[in-house]
Amino acid sequence: MKLGVVGLPNVGKSTLFNAITGAGAEAANYPFCTIDPNVGIVEVPDVRLSVLGEMYKTKKIVPAAIEFVDIAGLVKGASKGEGLGNKFLSHIREVDAIVHTVRCFEDTNIIHVGGKINPLDDIETINLELILADLNLVASRFDKVSKGIKTGDKKFIAEAELLQKIKAALEQSKPARSVIVSEEEKETARSFFLLTTKPVIYAANIAESDIGKPHNDYVKAVMSKAKEEGAEVIVLCAKIEEEISQLPKEDRQMFLEDLGLTESGLNVLVKSCYKLLGLISYLTAGVPEVRAWTIKSGTKAPQAAGKIHTDFEKGFIRAEVVHYDDLVALGGIVQAKEKGKVRSEGKEYVVNSGDVVLFRFNV
Ligand code: GDP
Repeated sequence: MKLGVVGLPNVGKSTLFNAITGAGAEAANYPFCTIDPNVGIVEVPDVRLSVLGEMYKTKKIVPAAIEFVDIAGLVKGASKGEGLGNKFLSHIREVDAIVHTVRCFEDTNIIHVGGKINPLDDIETINLELILADLNLVASRFDKVSKGIKTGDKKFIAEAELLQKIKAALEQSKPARSVIVSEEEKETARSFFLLTTKPVIYAANIAESDIGKPHNDYVKAVMSKAKEEGAEVIVLCAKIEEEISQLPKEDRQMFLEDLGLTESGLNVLVKSCYKLLGLISYLTAGVPEVRAWTIKSGTKAPQAAGKIHTDFEKGFIRAEVVHYDDLVALGGIVQAKEKGKVRSEGKEYVVNSGDVVLFRFNV
């Protein structure tokens, strides 16, 4: 899963990105992640892992992780190729969701590209570029579909209708996601590769001095905008997040407590992204390793097994499953087995968050 960090220049993207890369996920544990200076891997905090770690006296704990991509350079005119324009838009195309960073701090030393702090203008500037890029896509898709309709293929009629609906929304400065409602429409729209279908989280970047205070007017403005769009808002101070990420892990909690916080903004952001994307974790536990694996909610056992290794999916026989809550309540796998809490599940089993799973497979 990849999240793209976007925002106008000087809003604190690089600072947030430094916090992300500094947070300290061990890249070696995540061979499927991209190695690239613009990609940062962040662990998904999960207290269940340390509890299982104790239970299994494990040597290694590997949390789930998500990737963040720094998509700098999105400026006014990007959809027309200005700045690094199209290149950046193509990077956004590859991500599963967008973290839109918005400047909600004042600092006279740091120039704002628009001349003054105005989160709504900033949001609109970026959104407009995404909308314009999508309008271009919709137009070229429409040409193709029109040709298809002439061949009499019904499939193209539904596509054309959806494209019309999306175009109308975009022309009113609304994102495509606001009009793609049914599962069928979502399925059809998937092949359009639009930017404004991607879910968005706004990261409202506040000043250090605003931490723990009631939301300032900039943040309130972002919140009302997000509400209108059905998007989420995370309030954080990128500068503090960067500082936290540079502290040794054992000192981070105390630093947060001194600020009156229980959790870092980055943790909150990661958890929200997980939720936004409909992701859950199932767990594997043993002496060598206790680990969380990311799946989409609704994933069946063989595909969940495939996250560990493709052979697990291909040769899937069954899954032995005990829920984390039962395992912890009963004090261990032996007791859970005795109480009949370890179930044998087949190919149709939908894996739950917190299932502790052992896959049986043929090689
Ligand atoms: P980018 O252009 O969006 O990547 O922005 P940067 O991360 O480079 O930040 C621009 C400037 O704003 C830098 O001088 C940062 O130190 C500063 N900055 C970023 N976040 C904060 C913040 O939370 N508070 C304050 N006071 N300054 C910040």
